[in-house]
Amino acid sequence: MKEKLLGKTLKELETAAVACGLKPFVGRQLADWLYSKRARSWDRMVNISKAAREALSGAFELGTCEATASVTSSDGTRKYLFPVVCGRPSGPEASSVEAVMIPDGERRTLCVSSQAGCRMGCRFCMTGRQGFHGNLDAADILNQFISIDESAELTNAVFMGMGEPLDNYDAVSRAIEVLTAGWGFGWSPKRITLSTIGVIPVLRRFLDGQSCHLAVSLHDAFPEERLELMPVQKAYPAEEVIRLIRGYDFSGQRRVSFEYTMFAGFNDDKRHADALTRLLRGLECRVNLIRFHKIPDFPYDCSADGVMEAFRDRLNSNGITCTIRTSRGQDIMAACGMLAGRHSHRE
Ligand code: SF4
Repeated sequence: MKEKLLGKTLKELETAAVACGLKPFVGRQLADWLYSKRARSWDRMVNISKAAREALSGAFELGTCEATASVTSSDGTRKYLFPVVCGRPSGPEASSVEAVMIPDGERRTLCVSSQAGCRMGCRFCMTGRQGFHGNLDAADILNQFISIDESAELTNAVFMGMGEPLDNYDAVSRAIEVLTAGWGFGWSPKRITLSTIGVIPVLRRFLDGQSCHLAVSLHDAFPEERLELMPVQKAYPAEEVIRLIRGYDFSGQRRVSFEYTMFAGFNDDKRHADALTRLLRGLECRVNLIRFHKIPDFPYDCSADGVMEAFRDRLNSNGITCTIRTSRGQDIMAACGMLAGRHSHRE
């Protein structure tokens, strides 16, 4: 398999050009075509000579690939399915991942996948149920930005699709570097949010090395209950994740939020709201309440609207900013926790 150009830094693109017997400035032209102009074919790169393109394409592939399917929700949310080939110790494995474009007024947010499947095993999540099929590389991640019809209109990105981004952080941080570099997409880091269940050593790397926003999947403030939902609680308890986060400044431009999916009769009463308040007290943050979409073989339903509103109001009156997130793309199985529900090859 040829090496992919997508995902390379400017310096690496210059090195690639030189390796093909070309001048280093061709590397800058490649960065411009791949990242600013989002070119998906060699033919579009008209200011690079035909001979130079032939030399490059003999040694490298662009790394872009078309979606194999897309479906649009009645609310305008659009889900794309991309094929990926993941390197595995047992050899390459073909799989697919989903990217979801969510329109909201002028905003176009892309919910990006970082892994095919996931190995974190959260009990309420369809991706977790699918098992793990491999890590995406930076090209697979960036291709989700480039190969959708709304590519040029995208304003924001959330690493909230399939996979745990901190379990594939080398590829994710490389993609973020391309997204935020002047020679890359040129985005402000404030347009990007990384969502994690809190893999502490890698979270520290992320907090030290990036200034993107952070979202933490919390879902329950009581350790033994959270452990029932999320095996990660054993290795990286939420209290320690929050202790780490308290060491960073979230009072300015950088924001931290906590995701809290509401399960009827499990984590949605006053006791839970007050425990959550104690856990987060004094931290500049926001709590997002998420409607749960029932999945097979999981005992809980979503809390009723009135229960969610009461939970939100209690947190707000306790001094914790809390909102109920609008569920988008529900009719196309694109809402939180529903990804890979329909297209999983295990079905
Ligand atoms: Fe993985 Fe996130 Fe699903 Fe947990 S919720 S299994 S970390 S994709």
